[in-house]
Amino acid sequence: MKLKLFALSILLTVVFSCKQEKKQDQPEQEEATEVMEARAGNLNAGAFDTIVDGDQVKLYWLKNDDIEVAITNYGGRIVGLFTPDTKGDRVDVVIGRGSVKEYIDGPESYFGALIGRVGNRIAGGKFDIDGKNYSVETNNGKNALHGGPNGFQDKVWKVQSSNDTTLVLNYLSEDMEEGFPGALDAKVTYHLIKPNTLRIEYEAVTDKPTIVNLTNHAYFNLNGEGSGNILDHEMILYADKFTPVDETLIPTGELKEVKNTPFDFIEPHRIGERIEAEDTQIKYGGGYDHNFVLSDETNNSLKQAATVVGDKSGVVMEVFTTEPGVQFYSGNFMNAENKLKSGARDEHRSAFCLETQHYPDSPNQKNFPTIRLNPGEEYHTMTEYRFSTK
Ligand code: BGC
Repeated sequence: MKLKLFALSILLTVVFSCKQEKKQDQPEQEEATEVMEARAGNLNAGAFDTIVDGDQVKLYWLKNDDIEVAITNYGGRIVGLFTPDTKGDRVDVVIGRGSVKEYIDGPESYFGALIGRVGNRIAGGKFDIDGKNYSVETNNGKNALHGGPNGFQDKVWKVQSSNDTTLVLNYLSEDMEEGFPGALDAKVTYHLIKPNTLRIEYEAVTDKPTIVNLTNHAYFNLNGEGSGNILDHEMILYADKFTPVDETLIPTGELKEVKNTPFDFIEPHRIGERIEAEDTQIKYGGGYDHNFVLSDETNNSLKQAATVVGDKSGVVMEVFTTEPGVQFYSGNFMNAENKLKSGARDEHRSAFCLETQHYPDSPNQKNFPTIRLNPGEEYHTMTEYRFSTK
């Protein structure tokens, strides 16, 4: 297997350098085609051009000077994100699949996807609004995860507009869809801005009181998809507290200081450094699968949530968000069941997620910031992923 990968990488290097040589003496138009090919990598746009539930799905490319991102309106998924490493070579730092069919077939449901209507867990799938009980079908043991079994990740989002740097998606979630009250009109804007930043903006309005917690579930490997595990990535989380959980990953309600625990990422640490620590919380998560409470409590303004560095590539990703929390998931349940677009598999901990969000089980935790949205109010959150090199 290793030998095959090695041979493949040699072949790719040769092909790539041939293209580089060719570039020097060829006219501009062919160069553009080559750039298209190179950026597509193993991505076949045709495999994304299909009809799902009667609606058109496609692959969209956003590009600015140094980064490019491929997004499909099937679940608003980020399929790949290409950014230069320290040598100037392109690295695909978001893992994804090679076709819409593979995303539909699973088994992993959330690669790169928009998550809603309520990201993270709701205990027992039950909540109430103004004394009225509601329930979402459980899909994670006895809890509901990421908006229930048919969450936003599998919806075909309407493309409201698209150009080289911006993609605007819409989805109208019907009243009582997955058990949530109120028709929710959601709009998500992906925007590449300078320097080297992907900004995602989430907006929504409702016609009845409801609950909303939208996020994106990109799985990152800053050394590149298929480059091994992420245990040597170095990470800072700007969070002095986290929300401890029970064995089903529902918060206990406590906001616990990270100090003197494996959850202290205030100073940079390797992700793998304490991931096997003798610690009940680490045991419950099978590693990290916890919500971190961002230290900067400023509401509605962008604040830094994380800085992560790929140890082999030198790619640096800084995450900024208006949200109060971020779920750091270290890919503990990944087990090579899914083939990725590069041909590699989603090996154990070969990617990590930083899901900017309100805290898990917010509807049932009275001391957590609310995720309630009322008619007449506008839900608006923003997260930025800024890329550079070390
Ligand atoms: C959850 C994990 C879950 C993963 C699924 C994360 O947001 O916290 O427990 O396995 O999503 O992809």
